[in-house]
Amino acid sequence: MKQFQFAYSNLNNLRRELTKIDLWRKSTITSRMVFQIFSEILDKPLLQQISDAIRSAFPDALYMGCTTNGSICAGELAKSDVVVVCNIFEFPTTQIDMMQYHLTDDTARDVVQDFLAELEKRPWVKAVEMFVTIRGMSMTVFCDELQKARQDIRMYGGGAFLSDINDNNANVFSCKGDFTDTGVVFLLLGGEDLHVRTTHIAGWKPLGKTFCVTRAENNLLYELDNAPAYQVYYNYLNIRNDENFFTNSLEFPFFYEHNGIKILRAPIASNPDGSLTMTADLEENVAANLAYGDPWTILEEIRHDGETLRDFCPEAIHIYSCAARRTFWGDAEISKESMPFQSIAPTTGFYTSGEFLRTDGKMNQHNVTLVVAAMREGDPPEEEMRQFRMEERDVSGKVSMISRLARFIEAATRDLEQANNQLSEMAVTDGLTRIYNRAEIQRRIKERLKSGETLSLIMLDIDNFKHVNDAFGHKEGDAVIIGLADLLRRATACDNSSAAGRWGGEEFMVLVPESLELATKCAADCVKYFAEISFPAAGHQTVSVGVTQAKPDDTLDTLLVRVDKALYQSKTGGKNRYTVL
Ligand code: GH3
Ligand code: MG
Ligand code: MG
Repeated sequence: MKQFQFAYSNLNNLRRELTKIDLWRKSTITSRMVFQIFSEILDKPLLQQISDAIRSAFPDALYMGCTTNGSICAGELAKSDVVVVCNIFEFPTTQIDMMQYHLTDDTARDVVQDFLAELEKRPWVKAVEMFVTIRGMSMTVFCDELQKARQDIRMYGGGAFLSDINDNNANVFSCKGDFTDTGVVFLLLGGEDLHVRTTHIAGWKPLGKTFCVTRAENNLLYELDNAPAYQVYYNYLNIRNDENFFTNSLEFPFFYEHNGIKILRAPIASNPDGSLTMTADLEENVAANLAYGDPWTILEEIRHDGETLRDFCPEAIHIYSCAARRTFWGDAEISKESMPFQSIAPTTGFYTSGEFLRTDGKMNQHNVTLVVAAMREGDPPEEEMRQFRMEERDVSGKVSMISRLARFIEAATRDLEQANNQLSEMAVTDGLTRIYNRAEIQRRIKERLKSGETLSLIMLDIDNFKHVNDAFGHKEGDAVIIGLADLLRRATACDNSSAAGRWGGEEFMVLVPESLELATKCAADCVKYFAEISFPAAGHQTVSVGVTQAKPDDTLDTLLVRVDKALYQSKTGGKNRYTVL
């Protein structure tokens, strides 16, 4: 296949470009052609003229168009308002088709069902590319229905937009239908020699604090952590609930897991009640973070995915990138993301209001994401593979500062996380022995008791311990305590639900998630192995043990009283033994 692309300047130039394409086409055997027209402005008469010129030059060609927040031509953000792309397929096996539908919240299900029926009739389809008007619509039904299509069909595309992101008049159009602000155009591609690869790149990272979606209904996000969702933007980013909310929040989407992959999703509006309107549904009880762009991560991901795509040897690349990414980098730097792809194949596409990509069979609508689709006809060429070239030049200006701040946030978040982990570990650990403290082992016993699962307890008390302190000093006493704790730690190490804790002084408690029989065996081992340890000054010491299993009517108190009683009986029975009650 071959991809031509050029910026539109005037009708004469357009006709000249079309003639060039025609000459090339006549010099080779070609099968099908599809034109794509991207425009930053909704100038219907002009777009109609362009469509007519294409139609008269190539009556059999398909065309589809879309208003955009900027178009990509030859890997770069185009300087002109309109870009025309022509994809020519050379293999006779390659087939294409196009459909346009009226798309609203009300028609989404029927539209997709009708489209799926059309797909059924075309078993050759390998990929579906789409231009969609999103506006305030929830794309959930659209995506959920579309993913019912045959598993091996790749799907990708972008949401129409305009250079003014607050202008709701984004349109799609095609040779199959008129201009519409509520529509979808599907391009079907396939045939045995056509190959398509897709990938998506984010590079946005979650900010430290995690919020829980506590109330959501369809695409309205009402509450995060039981407070109006909008407050997160105000409290953490000082973004107000006003007419600029959309523009201000665009670079800080939510980051959460959906369909098994990480998704970025930006709100499209904040409402007077503090709820946020999203472009797709968020489920309740999912964890969400605010996310920020990190230039280095972005460029690393582009390098990684770019090199993988190079191995595929594409002949054309289509990019659907979020308008937020253009805002983030600024016009001087934005092409850093797309230009490297031009080094492996002619690259075109546009800045969208939402990106669509099917991943692992699931159809997702993303925000703030770069979706890349690469195409090739036939086998990879024999000649040497092209290099995926990225400029090594540093990022500069605003982006450089953001990158440093991003690094700072990451490092500070890591430090805080470490400190938090340490604190939570300290809160449950006994300082001397490093096994659980009394509060934690008691909490675990309570939890196990509540679950109704099998639970036994072993309580231990070192014999004649006062004598150890008196005769060999407090330090040696500590060593004996630590010696027993280490033994109990090893005894409980192999099973996550068993636990050992220091009950106080030289007393210990072990939670055994097993029946009395196994707990008794464990108690016997403790008595035996503890007596075998030889301490530097104190030599051999002994321990007395009580064992019991929780009964259905036990409370924490009755259970603890019984195990204590068992231990007491070991003491009165002569120590260095265990008693089962
Ligand atoms: P029995 O065989 O009846 O258990 O006699 P015992 O000497 O062990 O009696 P008791 O339980 O009264 O003695 C506990 C002693 O443990 C008293 C206290 O000074 C000592 N102790 C408590 N905590 C620590 C500690 O952290 N380190 C040291 N070295 N001694 C401690
Ligand atoms: Mg004691
Ligand atoms: Mg004792």
